Amino acid sequence: MFKLKLHWQILIALIIAVIYGLIFTEYAYLVTWMGDLFLRALKMIIVPLILTSIISGVTSIGDAQNLGRLGLKTITYYITTSLFAIITGLFLVNLIQPGVGADLGLKKDVPELAAASGDIWEIIFRMVPTNIFEALVSFDILAIIFFSILFGFFITKLESNQKDFLTNLFNSGFEVMMKLTHFIIRFTPLGILGVVVGVVADQRENLGAVLGSLSKYFVTVLIGLIIHSTITLPLIIRTIGKVNPWKHFQAMTTPLLTAFSTRSSSATLPLTIDAIESNAGVSNKISSFVLPLGATINMDGTALYECVAAMFIAQAYGIEMSVVQQVLIVFTALLASIGAAGIPMAGLVMISVILTAVGLPLEGVGLILAVDPFLDMCRTTVNVFSDSCGTVTIAKTEGEILKV
Ligand code: ASP
Repeated sequence: MFKLKLHWQILIALIIAVIYGLIFTEYAYLVTWMGDLFLRALKMIIVPLILTSIISGVTSIGDAQNLGRLGLKTITYYITTSLFAIITGLFLVNLIQPGVGADLGLKKDVPELAAASGDIWEIIFRMVPTNIFEALVSFDILAIIFFSILFGFFITKLESNQKDFLTNLFNSGFEVMMKLTHFIIRFTPLGILGVVVGVVADQRENLGAVLGSLSKYFVTVLIGLIIHSTITLPLIIRTIGKVNPWKHFQAMTTPLLTAFSTRSSSATLPLTIDAIESNAGVSNKISSFVLPLGATINMDGTALYECVAAMFIAQAYGIEMSVVQQVLIVFTALLASIGAAGIPMAGLVMISVILTAVGLPLEGVGLILAVDPFLDMCRTTVNVFSDSCGTVTIAKTEGEILKV
């Protein structure tokens, strides 16, 4: 029987969801439960998936030298692409100047921001958990990753019978998690239908802001994201990774559509791992190390958006940003994107880090609130795309033969 590929099913679900959400707004609840259930199922598998995938990945990478090389490549790729993204954003925001003359009447108070205004050191400190069980329970992904890398590394230092036992245990655990992931993936079209109907129904009145006074800001971020994902990243994977960007994009359609709909890199992670292994042909050794790390610290879309948003707020308040301040914005945007969790709207909260660093008014965040859910969809897609580009590039430089 003719069977539609999963990404087509998801695309159709997306279109139906937008139409349904706009027309039958009051009846959104009839389908949103499917989205809630789907997101719960994804969240259910994230922590055990990250734990088993990193531990099994690190044990298969083996010695300290290999791990160090892979780690260095990963971090270098993540930081470089995020910086490219931020610079693209900075260039565009200076060129288009979306905030000049923006309507300050839109200002809203965001009381929870003061509490969230982050300290840069905290992001680094957070990596080392005081209590690993607390980190597991509270979804502290960076801390879980840090612990798993150490745990996996020291497994390789054990006597051979203990080492084999634990390696097998975590490999088997990871296999179970991937089987579970496959099972949940089958429900993606229905899940996305539910999630997107909810978003459209909720955000209906904010659609005006996208078309109205915030349109210039919205378009600036969007152009930046498009440039980064259609020019910068493809150039990197083509030149360094010798990967065909179009084939790679096709291999990643399911996780990209899921990222767009769920607005969460972490929730998308199981699908990203599956697509990169099954469609792109990357080994589990590489993907299980590079992707979980990427979903948490590599957010090119968020980095670009942080920079444009901070500059937009400065422009809207009529505050001139000196070159030094703009450089400060670049670095704090990088840190904010590393520190942002892979969950919806995390980037919005992290803007307070930048505003505090350069002395801009925190209430400025109120200006950009209305269009944030839409930008969140787009930046999360770019975040996931960049993780996947990094994984294929690193796999190629490690000598793997891929399908893309
Ligand atoms: N939602 C984004 C993500 O999960 C983070 C952000 O809000 O920018 O990747």
